[in-house]
Amino acid sequence: MNKTFIRSTLIGSALFTAFLVASVGRSSDTKLAQATAATPRQRTQEAQAKMSPQDAIDKLRAGNARFVAGKTRARDLQAAVRATAVGQYPFAVILSCLDSRQPVELLFDQGIGDVFNARVAGNVLNDDILGSMEFACKVSGSKLILVLGHSNCGAVKGAVDGVELGKLTGLLDKIKPAAAQVPHDVQPRTSKNDDFVQKTADANVRLVMQQIREQSPILREMLDAGTIALEGGMYNLATGEVHLWPK
Ligand SMILES: [Zn+2]
Repeated sequence: MNKTFIRSTLIGSALFTAFLVASVGRSSDTKLAQATAATPRQRTQEAQAKMSPQDAIDKLRAGNARFVAGKTRARDLQAAVRATAVGQYPFAVILSCLDSRQPVELLFDQGIGDVFNARVAGNVLNDDILGSMEFACKVSGSKLILVLGHSNCGAVKGAVDGVELGKLTGLLDKIKPAAAQVPHDVQPRTSKNDDFVQKTADANVRLVMQQIREQSPILREMLDAGTIALEGGMYNLATGEVHLWPK
């Protein structure tokens, strides 16, 4: 063996080692890619059109079950950003409270482009939100409107205690008719009574559902035709569970 041969063999083995290291690196990259491959594929317009209102309800139910079980899906959010840049086909529009503890995409285990999300303290209705729901269903093809209240809601508590503060006063006034619907034997009628607060939150969701139907001829027509569904639900801040109301 001459020196040149030995040198070239050493160089060759160094190159082989480098290749091996690179290959191992690549293989762990592949494993990472396989892990993120569990990311649900982005919904197409065709897939959205094929969904029924019941499919949309089932999807939210299943998503919340995964959330509660701590088995949410792996999601490549950057890939989802790229995939949804040219269009969106969300299957539901959800009206929920401003409360920071009930972010709907998280608690229903949904990703970018899956649901329209309208949030306002006390999940009350106004014309702008109603217009947004009309856009979501009539223009964008969503199959479900969900009105989602939550336990221990500060807006409901403020309403039953008659809190007054700037523009908040008018917002809380919208919840008062719900409190008035709670049977009078539920006493005392203040935020100190958890039962009264919860019953008011339940009544508020039902009231908003009724207002949606009454105030939007466009949505009422779609509901009557069965092309969309309107559901109510209550999120439990203590357990992470959403209770969707039976029909
Ligand atoms: Zn709230």
